[in-house]
Amino acid sequence: MEVSSLFSLPDGLEIVSMVGTADLLTIHVVATVPMRACPLCAEAATHVRSYYTRLVADLPCAGRRVQLLLRVRKFRCDTVSCPRKVFAERLGPFLQAWARKTTRLRQAIESIGLATCGEGGARLADRLAIATSPTTILRRIMALPLPPVETVTHLGIDDFALRRGRTYGTVLVDLRLHKVIDLLPDRKAETAKAWMQARPEIELVSRDRGGDYAAAARQGAPQAIQTADRFHLCKNLTEAVEKALARCRAEIRKSQKAKKKPAEETLPEKPPPALLTADGKPYSAHQTERYDRYQQVVAERSQGAKVKEIAKRVGLGVRTVQRWLKDPTRCATRW
Ligand SMILES: [Zn+2]
Repeated sequence: MEVSSLFSLPDGLEIVSMVGTADLLTIHVVATVPMRACPLCAEAATHVRSYYTRLVADLPCAGRRVQLLLRVRKFRCDTVSCPRKVFAERLGPFLQAWARKTTRLRQAIESIGLATCGEGGARLADRLAIATSPTTILRRIMALPLPPVETVTHLGIDDFALRRGRTYGTVLVDLRLHKVIDLLPDRKAETAKAWMQARPEIELVSRDRGGDYAAAARQGAPQAIQTADRFHLCKNLTEAVEKALARCRAEIRKSQKAKKKPAEETLPEKPPPALLTADGKPYSAHQTERYDRYQQVVAERSQGAKVKEIAKRVGLGVRTVQRWLKDPTRCATRW
């Protein structure tokens, strides 16, 4: 068996020598095809004008990195009308023009990246004797073409943060396949509307509670039924329950006190003072509930509880608790 075929090099490339170290195999390769087609006029050229070398990385061999030292030719195009007088020979799908990796090595890196991630992929590649970096893996994955969007009848749409609080995009999901089918660069109604208009087969749009996607669906897919998705239904329910509980604040406190001090049960209970905003308006149910939580945060803190513990007990985020403790007056103005 010829050595060239052992390395599965394409026709027209031949191995002339190999030099190996403990972790690297350098293979000297020459191109032997007598003629090449001019990339501009497609006429065959046979006149070799000069040579140059390309150093490209290839798939590893038996635990060693492999690099190909290619001796490539420059041909002269003899077609009189062709403006390209000199061209470097192309090595087809095996090696793209200007590439520093063979196509098969690039595909291997893409497969590693798709199966793992940037950092993990780089560690795995290192074990497989493939020299690459997390950044390269991610860049290769980002450069892969997305599969075309097939017919979608049940569409889920929502926003997602590229950078929380600053940049948002839109994610589109095929609810029947449970697969993300497309991403949009923003969360504007116009962009989503244009996407839906190109797909008249949409029968149902499941969306959030905001107005933008509702408008997009109304104008882009007027034939579709609009529904609220499960996440937002649960969110609606949670908020409704919270409001209802906030309204029962006085009764809940009363029952708590009754449990703690049964002896005082017979004493007349004073109603809680009415809470007012800076404008003199009474607190809404939501504001009252927030104020209660704030009081609980302060009480827990005064007893020496840590911020993390408080956040868990009160059902708030750690950052919110930190903010409230740091500047309660600023928080109060927002209730
Ligand atoms: Zn030409």
